[in-house]
Amino acid sequence: PADIYGAERRNSRGLDLSVPDEAARLHHAARALSPLRAGPFVEGVARGGGEATAVLSPSEADVAIGQVVEASPADIDAAFAAARAAQPAWDASGGFRRAEVLRAMADALEGDMERLIAICAREAGKTLADGVAEVREAADFCRYYAHLAQTKFAGAETLKGPVGETNTLELRGRGVFVCISPWNFPLAIFTGQIAAALAAGNAVVAKPAEQTPLIATQAVALFHEAGLDPRLLALAPGRGETVGAALTAHPQCDGVAFTGGTDTARAINQTLAGRDGPIIPFIAETGGLNGMFVDTTALKEQVVDDVILSAFGSAGQRCSALRILFLPRDTADGVIETIKGAMDALVIGDPADPATDVGPVIDEEAREALRAHVARLEVEARVLHRLDAPAQGTFFGPVLAEIPSARFLEREVFGPILHVVRYDPARLDEVAGELAGQGYGLTLGVHSRIDAFARQVRELVPAGNVYVNRSIIGAVVGVQPFGGEGLSGTGPKAGGPNSLSRYAIERAVSVNI
Ligand code: NAP
Repeated sequence: PADIYGAERRNSRGLDLSVPDEAARLHHAARALSPLRAGPFVEGVARGGGEATAVLSPSEADVAIGQVVEASPADIDAAFAAARAAQPAWDASGGFRRAEVLRAMADALEGDMERLIAICAREAGKTLADGVAEVREAADFCRYYAHLAQTKFAGAETLKGPVGETNTLELRGRGVFVCISPWNFPLAIFTGQIAAALAAGNAVVAKPAEQTPLIATQAVALFHEAGLDPRLLALAPGRGETVGAALTAHPQCDGVAFTGGTDTARAINQTLAGRDGPIIPFIAETGGLNGMFVDTTALKEQVVDDVILSAFGSAGQRCSALRILFLPRDTADGVIETIKGAMDALVIGDPADPATDVGPVIDEEAREALRAHVARLEVEARVLHRLDAPAQGTFFGPVLAEIPSARFLEREVFGPILHVVRYDPARLDEVAGELAGQGYGLTLGVHSRIDAFARQVRELVPAGNVYVNRSIIGAVVGVQPFGGEGLSGTGPKAGGPNSLSRYAIERAVSVNI
C-alpha cells in the first residue's frame, strides 16, 4: 500500500510455516548448519590475529557453533579510518543512490532467508517463526529507510521566506556512527540501526552483542554484496566493556545508536559526556516494564491468547514483552485459571523444531537472574504456576506469579515470567500510577470494550507504543513506529517517519539575491 508519502512500499512477506515442507526445510537447514566464524571485518577484509573463542548455542549444552575473535584497538582504529575516508562521497551520493543499496540489501536478506533463520535458531535460540519475523523486519527496515533516504535526503527543501531571499534546508550525514545492538534481535536491530545510519549518509562501525556475532557477520557480508562500499561498514565484535567502550570513546565517533539495557545506556551516556570535542548525539532504545490493563468487559479468550503471546513468546526476551498483567479483582480468578491452562499447552524445547513455542533463554547468566527473581517471588509474593523446562541447554520454564503492586518490580525482568496484579477498579488511578511511577515507558496494553477505559489507561501510564485489544509485541516497520520514553529510550522511533532525524545534521542556507 501507499505510505505516508504516497509512494509504494511493501513489507516483506516472509515464509509460511503452516506449509509443512517450508517448516521442514528450515528445520533441516538449522540442524545442518556448518560452523561459522566471526571477527573484525574492515574494508571487507577479515582481520584479527587474536585468540578465537567459541560461540555457544543456548539450546545445546556445550556445542560450539562457531568461533569469534574480538576486535583489537588497531582493528578499531582501522575501521574508523576507512569509514571516515569513504563517508563524504557516500553522503554526497544522495538519497537515491543510498536507497538503491538498501533495497538491494533487503532483497539479499530475503534471498538468504533460510540460512539466516537457521543461524538465528542456533546462535540466539530463536524459534523458526521468530526467525522468519527477524529476517522480515531486517528487510523492512532497509526498505523503509531507503524510502526515507529517497524522500528526505533527495535534495534541499526550499522554505518560504521574504521576497529577495532564498531559504533552503538540507539534511546531511553526521560522519561515522557507532551502532551497538542487543542479542535479542540479533539481525533485525543490528541491520536496522546500520540501515538508518547509512540512509542518512553516515558510515558505520557496528558492534553486535557478545552472544550473537555470527549472524551479524553474515549481515555485514550481505551489505557488502549488495553493493555497499566495504569501507562504509565495519564490524567490531567483542565485549561491551572493552570493544563497546572503545568505540564510544573513539575520537572519530560522530554519533551512537544503541539498543540494549537502561543501565548500559547510562554507562555509554557517561562515556560520551566525558569526551572532549563535539557533543555526540546518542540514540538509545532500552528496556521496559510493560503492563496490560484488563477490565470486566474484555473477552477472556482474546485476553488469554494475547497474554500468552506477549509474555511468553520469544521466551519473554523482547523489550516489548508483557511483564505485569492488571486484572480486575472480580474476574481475575477466571482469567488466571485460563492462563494456566494455556501455559500448559506451550511446547518448550528445540527452537529449530517447528512445533516449539518457547525456546531457551540466551545464556546461563540470564537464567540465573531469572532463577534469583523466582526465589524472591516465592518468598515475598506468590508463584501461581510454573512449567518444567528441558535439562539440556539454558531453558527456563514460564512462570506466572502474583505480586501486590507494580512497585514490587524495581526493574525489567527479562524472560518468561508474567506477574499479575489484582486491582479494584475504583482505585485504577492509584494502581496505574504505581506502574507509571517506575519510570519506564515502552509498551502498554489495554483489553476492554469501553473506549473511555482505554483512553483513561493511556492517560495514566506513559508508553511509546499502546496496543488495544491485541498483543503488545511485534511492532511492524512503517506501521507501528517503535520506541519508548523515560527509562525506555530517547527516540526517535525505529521504523517511523522521523527515524532518521538524529542520524543527520540540518543545514539552513539563506541567500540574499
Ligand atoms: P545490554 O547488556 O545492555 O547490551 C547491549 C549492547 O551493549 C551489547 O552489544 C553490549 O555488549 C553492549 N555494551 C555493554 N556494555 C557496554 C559499554 N559499557 N559500552 C558500550 N557498549 C556496551 O543488553 P542485552 O542484554 O544485549 O539486550 C537486552 C536488553 O535490550 C533488554 O533490556 C531489552 O529490553 C533491551 N532492548 C530494547 C529494545 C528497544 O527497542 N527498546 C529492543 C531490544 C532490546 P555485550 O554483549 O558484550 O554485553
